[in-house]
Amino acid sequence: MRPLLLLDFDGPLNPYRAREIPAGYERHEIVEGDKTWVVLLNQQHGVELNALADVFDLVWATSWEHGANRLLGPRLGLPELPVIVWPPRESIAGVRRGSWKTPYVAEWVGDRPFVWVDDELNRHDRFALAKAHRSHLLHWVEADRGLTAADFAAIRDWASRNSFADKAFRPHD
Ligand SMILES: [Mg+2]
Repeated sequence: MRPLLLLDFDGPLNPYRAREIPAGYERHEIVEGDKTWVVLLNQQHGVELNALADVFDLVWATSWEHGANRLLGPRLGLPELPVIVWPPRESIAGVRRGSWKTPYVAEWVGDRPFVWVDDELNRHDRFALAKAHRSHLLHWVEADRGLTAADFAAIRDWASRNSFADKAFRPHD
């Protein structure tokens, strides 16, 4: 069973907390209808994520939902990806100590192994998912820095340690 790689956008791929534009990023204005968003994008992320698609099935796990395929992915050279569609905001009400996404992610992934990159994960999410899922990695990313080479290495390392990436790591066998 191929593992999933769940991708949050704001934070991991758009370091919205950065005080200035970090090295490797460019400012993009995204316009749709009467809405404009400003995001910081790093083309290397597209390269790294497309390479990880050898091992993982990539999935958007962002509040941009289908907008991620329409407005963001093409700017990073990503193909159209499956999208987790969240319930309406009003039904996500209630006090929660972890990420509001966690119960819906747990339901969406079922029993598939997965890595989830997001800037809003904490120990409550780790605890909630550890109870239900044996094979996963919650990989927290700093929203002022975005995904770095070290993050991609950690994701690859997880895949390797869990025997998902043997072929990718032994290209000369
Ligand atoms: Mg985020």
